[in-house]
Parts: sequence; structure tokens; C-alpha cells
Amino acid sequence: MKLNITCIPGDGIGPEIVAQAKKVLNKVALVYDHEMNFRDVLMGGCSIDAYGVPLTQETIDAAKAADAVLMGSIGGNTSTSPWYKLEPSKRPEAGLLGIRKALGLFANLRPAYLYPQLKEACPLKEEAAVKGFDMLIMRELTGGLYFGERYTKEVDGELTATDTLVYKESEIRRIAIKAFEVARKRRKSVISVDKANVLDSSRLWRKVVEEVAKDYPDVALEHMLVDNCAMQLVRDPAQFDVVLTENMFGDILSDEASMITGSIGMLPSASLNDSSFGLYEPSHGSAPDIAGKDIANPIATVLSAAMMLRYTFNLDKEADSIENAVRKVLEEGYRTTDLMGSANEGEFKKVGCREMGDLLVERILYL
Ligand code: NAD
Repeated sequence: MKLNITCIPGDGIGPEIVAQAKKVLNKVALVYDHEMNFRDVLMGGCSIDAYGVPLTQETIDAAKAADAVLMGSIGGNTSTSPWYKLEPSKRPEAGLLGIRKALGLFANLRPAYLYPQLKEACPLKEEAAVKGFDMLIMRELTGGLYFGERYTKEVDGELTATDTLVYKESEIRRIAIKAFEVARKRRKSVISVDKANVLDSSRLWRKVVEEVAKDYPDVALEHMLVDNCAMQLVRDPAQFDVVLTENMFGDILSDEASMITGSIGMLPSASLNDSSFGLYEPSHGSAPDIAGKDIANPIATVLSAAMMLRYTFNLDKEADSIENAVRKVLEEGYRTTDLMGSANEGEFKKVGCREMGDLLVERILYL
């Protein structure tokens, strides 16, 4: 298969970690007989330096022309970088919002998986950590409270702020379909999270999700109130497979889910539109404090590349081969600095970003 991938290495550690993901993808292409075509474009701070804006039309066109986009991370030190002296619409993060909008990315997928080898990093009680968990938060990304009408005005002599939460049936239906499709590739369970005991938007959410569920009789559906879900995530995270939810609930729950894994350098993400196209990136930022030192953990980006193979290209075996390689390096005791925790130097083999990339490449096998 021919895979056309536009890469946005971005700022900070972005170029270092994307380089490792490309190495791994090239090895996958060799082992499974595919052709990878990469094209690199600028976005974020590096684009401001080169063109005066965080996102150019050329970058948008290159992204649209590809089958998928693989991104590192954008942004700099928000206290010291001159990029943050610019007005908000010209800062690096405006590029991210701009490209999501230009590509119509409405579904955000964030897996949270606890590797048994890293369970010491899990901040939960031992019984929850020992059981492990493997969930995926499917968050609606372009509707709801963050995009509704908002204003502040004086009412009866005092300032009053209003934010509106709007969802159309069609917006709920398309994200629900994504959730059920993804569940079919996993353990076939969807927990839809809402606040249907209070909010009209949640009652419509529930109704539409139930309608969509009829087309997926092989996938189990449950509803959960968001306050209960926040509690269950820390009490018994093993119960979750796909968690489907609206924009603001998803924003909060996906951060909570990533925190309980305890390792930010391991978490991939995907943002999808209604075709097979997707933008894949690690969940962490550009880590300017460690940029250029060859100590960043490239695994979140490498796992984002695995998600790209699975969700855009439908290449499940190839994605499995990357995820297996990650498990293997951890089992063999290799760790980047961020994963060392309080371990003694002798306990694990400490490696840099490039070496971790090489170790992963060596472990990509034909399954
Ligand atoms: P961050 O995720 O970049 O860093 C938080 C901490 O985690 C730092 O100590 C960093 O060194 C460490 N870290 C992050 N990724 C790591 C990795 N792969 N390996 C090892 N250590 C890692 O968050 P921040 O410091 O709040 O933000 C830095 C910049 O990133 C800001 O400009 C922010 O706006 C931007 N950002 C971008 C994105 C994105 O591009 N999607 C997301 C979040 C933050």
C-alpha cells in the first residue's frame, strides 16, 4: 500500500520525536511491503519564525493532500519565548486550532493504557494498578460549550456571564458512529458519558447514541453520568473500554485518564474527521525544557503512528507490530529519563530519544 503522510515536526522536542516515529514507520514499510511517502511542513513557532504566522495555507494544503498527518508538538516556553508576546491569534497554539478547523477534525481519541512494566508510576491504589486498564476516550471536539454563544453583560445591576451548550443531532450521531466503529476494533464496549439528569443537551445525546447503537448489536452500550465517571476512573479504571463523551466532559475526563497512567511520554492521540483522514500526535506538549538534549521519550509519537496505521489505513497487524515493539523494549528494561522515576540506575537501562527509536526499529517483526 502507498501511504502519503504529511509530517508537522513542530517545535521543542517535536522534530526529535517525529524523526523516531518516521524511522519506525519506514521499518514497518520494509517488513510489510508498503511505500511510505513523507512530506515535512512547518507549523507553530517555527512557522512564525519563517513566515510570520503559525499556520500557512501551504501547510493546510499539504495536510489536505495527504492520507494522514503525523505531528510532533508545537509551542515554546510560554514565559520566556518571544512567540508569546504576540497577540493570541498569532501565537503557536493558534496554528493547532486553525488546522483542526481546516481539516474538520471533530473526533478526538485518547487511549489511556497502563503498561504492566510501568505500574509503579500509576498513582492509584495498588489493587487498581495491578488489574491494569486499557481505555480510549472518544471526545467530541468541535461542538458544545466551547463553541456556543457567550457574552457578559450587566443584568439587574451586576455583571452576568452566559455560555451556551449547543449540540445538533447530526453532531452527536457522527461522533457516536466513530465510537462504535472504534469499539469494534477493541473490546466491543461503549460507555457513553453525559449529565442527562440535568441537561437537555445530554438527554438528546443519550437518545441519539441509543439510536446509533441499534446498528451495532455486537457492541455493548452503557450510559454513565459524568460525575460518577470521574469517580469510577480512579476507583476501577479497568471497567472502561471506549468512553464516548461531549467536548467539555471529554476535555476533563481525558486529562484525568492520562494522569492515572502516570507517564505523559507514553500517551498517543488521534483526531479524525468523517473520512478515514486523521491527525495523529502525542498527548504531551513540546517540552522546551528538554528540547535538543536527546532525552525526550519518543514512544507517545511512535504509538500515535501506530494509531494512524490502525485508524486511517486499516493496517491492524502493522499497528500491532509497533505496539508489541513498545511492550518488548519496556520488558527488556529500557527506559528514557522520564520513565526512570525513583529507580536506581542499575535497575533499568537508561537510553536517549534516538537510541529508543533504534531499539523500537529492531523489534518491528512480521506478525
Ligand atoms: P509539556 O507536555 O510540553 O511538558 C510537561 C512536562 O513533561 C515537562 O517537564 C516536559 O519535559 C515533560 N515531557 C513532556 N513530553 C515529554 C516526553 N516526550 N519525554 C519526556 N518528558 C516529556 O507541557 P508544557 O510544559 O505545559 O507545555 C510546553 C509547550 O507545549 C507550551 O508551549 C504548550 O502550549 C505546548 N503544548 C502543545 C501541545 C500540542 O502541540 N498539541 C499540547 C500541550 C502543550
